[in-house]
Amino acid sequence: MPVFPDNDGTKWLTDPANLRKDANGKVVRVVVHTTAAGMTLQDQAGSAYNTWTSASERERMGVGMVSAHFCVELDGRVIQFVDTKDIAFGTGWLTGTSVHIEFAGIGPNQLLEPQLQYGSNLIAWIAKAHPDVALDPTGVSEADPGDPTKPGITCHKFIQVVWRAKPENKTAKFTPKDCPGTGVIGQLPDLARRAKLRLALLNTPIAAP
Ligand SMILES: [Zn+2]
Repeated sequence: MPVFPDNDGTKWLTDPANLRKDANGKVVRVVVHTTAAGMTLQDQAGSAYNTWTSASERERMGVGMVSAHFCVELDGRVIQFVDTKDIAFGTGWLTGTSVHIEFAGIGPNQLLEPQLQYGSNLIAWIAKAHPDVALDPTGVSEADPGDPTKPGITCHKFIQVVWRAKPENKTAKFTPKDCPGTGVIGQLPDLARRAKLRLALLNTPIAAP
C-alpha cells in the first residue's frame, strides 16, 4: 500500500474513471505538474478533487478523467489522491509506471520554498517505495526534453513534446499544456538534488543512543 506516511491529508479518488487499480507496474518516473489554479488559493487539492470528480467532467471526458497521485499545496502540505500502485491519469502518454505530482501554482511562476522542501521529501519517499525511480531530471527544457521514457524526474510538458515529435503523432489531435511552466522546469534539478539528500537520510539507520 504505497501511501505517503507524512501526508497532511487524503482525498481518495475511487471512481474507475479517475484511476486504474493495481496497474502502475514497475514505477520508474515522477511526473511534475502544476494545478494552474494560481498563487493564492490555499486548498488547491480540494479544488482539483472537485473538478476531477464533477459530473460535468465525467460527461465531457468519460473514463480517463484527469487525476494525480498527489498535490503539494503552496504551503507545502501534501495531499494524496491515489495509491502509487494504481495508475493516475496525469498525462495521455506515459500515464502508467509514473507517479504524478500536482504542485499548486501556475506557470511561469516557480515553486515556493515550502513546496521545494516538502515536494522533495515526497519525491524521496517515492524513490524509496519504488526503487526503480531515478532521482535525476531526464530533460532540461522544452527545447531539450530528453527521453521521458527513462527512469527519472520529468514533467508534463516534456512528455507532450516528445510524444508530439513522433512521426505517427504529427497530425494527432491534442491540447498542448503549459504544465508545469518554465519556472518549475528550471527547478527540476534543485528538486532532484534535495530529493537525493532526503533519500540518503531515509536510508540512514538511526543510531542507538
Ligand atoms: Zn500537467
